[in-house]
Amino acid sequence: MRDLARLPKAHLHLHFTGSMRVPTLVDMAAAYNVRLPEALVDNDPLRLPATERGWFRFQRLYDAARACVRSEADMRRLVDEAAADDAAEGSRRLEIQVDPTSYAPFVGGITPAVEIVIDAARVASAAHGIEVGVIVAASRMKHPLDARTLARLAARHAGDGVGDVVGFGLSNDERRGDTSQFGPAFDIARRAGLAAVPHGGELLGPDHIGEVMRELVPDRIGHGVRAAEDERVLAAIVERGVALEVNPGSNIGLGVYAEASEVPLRTLVDAGALVALGADDPLLFGSRLVDQYEIARTAHGFTDTELAALAASSIRASRASESTRTRLLAEVDAWLLAPDPADAVDTHPARGTVTIG
Ligand SMILES: [Zn+2]
Repeated sequence: MRDLARLPKAHLHLHFTGSMRVPTLVDMAAAYNVRLPEALVDNDPLRLPATERGWFRFQRLYDAARACVRSEADMRRLVDEAAADDAAEGSRRLEIQVDPTSYAPFVGGITPAVEIVIDAARVASAAHGIEVGVIVAASRMKHPLDARTLARLAARHAGDGVGDVVGFGLSNDERRGDTSQFGPAFDIARRAGLAAVPHGGELLGPDHIGEVMRELVPDRIGHGVRAAEDERVLAAIVERGVALEVNPGSNIGLGVYAEASEVPLRTLVDAGALVALGADDPLLFGSRLVDQYEIARTAHGFTDTELAALAASSIRASRASESTRTRLLAEVDAWLLAPDPADAVDTHPARGTVTIG
C-alpha cells in the first residue's frame, strides 16, 4: 500500500470557492463582518438529499462562502492555498474552475476577475511546484447569452501554458436551464481550442448525459457517473474518448449515492472510460483529492497498479502540454516501481534480506 499523497496525479474538478480552507473562510467572514452558517464551519461533511431542496441548501451555503470573497487579495489567497493544498496531495496539475461573475463587482468586472485568477495561477504554480490551469465556467441559472460572453472572455486567454485558460465549463443545478441553449457558447470555446467541460449526469441520469453529449460536445464531463446506468450512453462516452471527472465525496454529500461503495467507479473504469478523480468542493464535502483515491482503494478494492492507472487517466484527461503529460506519466510509473512499504516489513531478516554496504 503505497502512499497516495505521493502518487502524481492531475486534479481536474475543483471549484474556486469550494476549494477554500475552513480557517480561511472564517478569516474572511470576520474581516467583512459576515455571519457564517454553522454548516460551513462545523467540520461536518454535508449530507444532503438529492432533491431540489437539497440542492437549494447546497447552493445557499456555497453562496454564503462566496460572499466572503470580496477583493483581489482574497481571490489570490484562494488560488494560492488551493495550489498549495493540491501540491501537498501529489497533484502535479490543477485545473481550477471559476465563474468570475460573482467576484466581478469587487474587482471591476469579469475581465479583471479572470485576469486576477490567471495571474494568481501563474504565481501559485511557481511557488508550489504544480501547474495550475484555469477553467472558466458559466452557470445554468443565468442567461445563455451570459455564457457566450464568458466563453469569449475565456477564448481570449486560451493556451496550454501555466495559468492559461484551458477549458470552458457549465455548472449549477442540472435540472435548470435548457442545455441546447448553451451550445453556441461551447462552439465559441471550442473554436478557441478550449476543452468543453460541462457538468452533467450527477443529479440527472443517462438521458441528461446524452443531451449534454449531443448539444455541448464535451471533451470531459463533470461527474457523468450516472452513465453507469445505461450501457449505450457509457459506450458512447468510451467510444468518443470523453473523460469523466468523478467526485465520489461530492456524490455522497449531495445524496446521489448513500455510500462510497455505491459510486459506480468500477463500472466506469471497467467499461474503458477515462476517469479523473476530483474533490469538487472540499469546503462543503469535507474531503480532498487524496480522499477520493482512498475511496477507490478502500471502498472499491483498487490495487496500487489500478490506482496508478487512475492517476495516469487523470493526467491523460488533463489539458497539460504534451511534454508535461509525458513527464508526469513517467512519474506515475516511478511511484509504482518504488517498493511497496508493506513488502519492506520483513519479520524473518535471515531469509531473503540482502544487506548492501
Ligand atoms: Zn462541480
